[in-house]
Amino acid sequence: MMPAKPVDLTALVKDVPDFPKKGIIFKDITPLLADPRALQNMVDQLAEPYLQAGIQYVAGIESRGFLIAAPLACRLKAGLVPIRKKGKLPRKTKSATYNLEYGQDSIEAHEDAFPPGARVLLVDDVLATGGTAQAACELIEKIGGIVAGVSFLIELGFLNGRSKLTGRAVKALIKY
Ligand code: AMP
Repeated sequence: MMPAKPVDLTALVKDVPDFPKKGIIFKDITPLLADPRALQNMVDQLAEPYLQAGIQYVAGIESRGFLIAAPLACRLKAGLVPIRKKGKLPRKTKSATYNLEYGQDSIEAHEDAFPPGARVLLVDDVLATGGTAQAACELIEKIGGIVAGVSFLIELGFLNGRSKLTGRAVKALIKY
């Protein structure tokens, strides 16, 4: 039998120019998510460095981060924690604020999302300027968690988002 062709994740990410606004090249991951082998491979690769790392929770950033965090949490036999946009969570939350092009926004998690000292792996689809991930790390720490790693499917290296995550274990499967 012929060995199976390796999965090319990069080929399954589609560039959408000028979405959601002019000048942004949106990285559309839906073709990758829809491909069974690619989906499996993405989860395998994201999980691999953390299989023995004692991860207790995987935190995903709304909303595409949820789509990656959920299967990854299952693979790592960890719990899933949604980090949501302001006002979406029903119980008492803690929040962290980050800067947008104009103004600020904040993200929230339940204040009892995990117990103090929990080892949390933070996940999102795209690392761009890094503001969202930086705020999410601060939020996890405010709740008392330990950020054991910060993993992305895609890193837009030219935006230097890593500079906001200095000292953290940052990983990305696809780099532009
Ligand atoms: P940032 O805070 O600038 O790192 O932005 C990260 C957040 O914005 C992530 O939750 C991404 O889903 C989203 N994002 C930023 N840039 C892009 C892009 N070019 N394509 C898709 N999503 C993006």
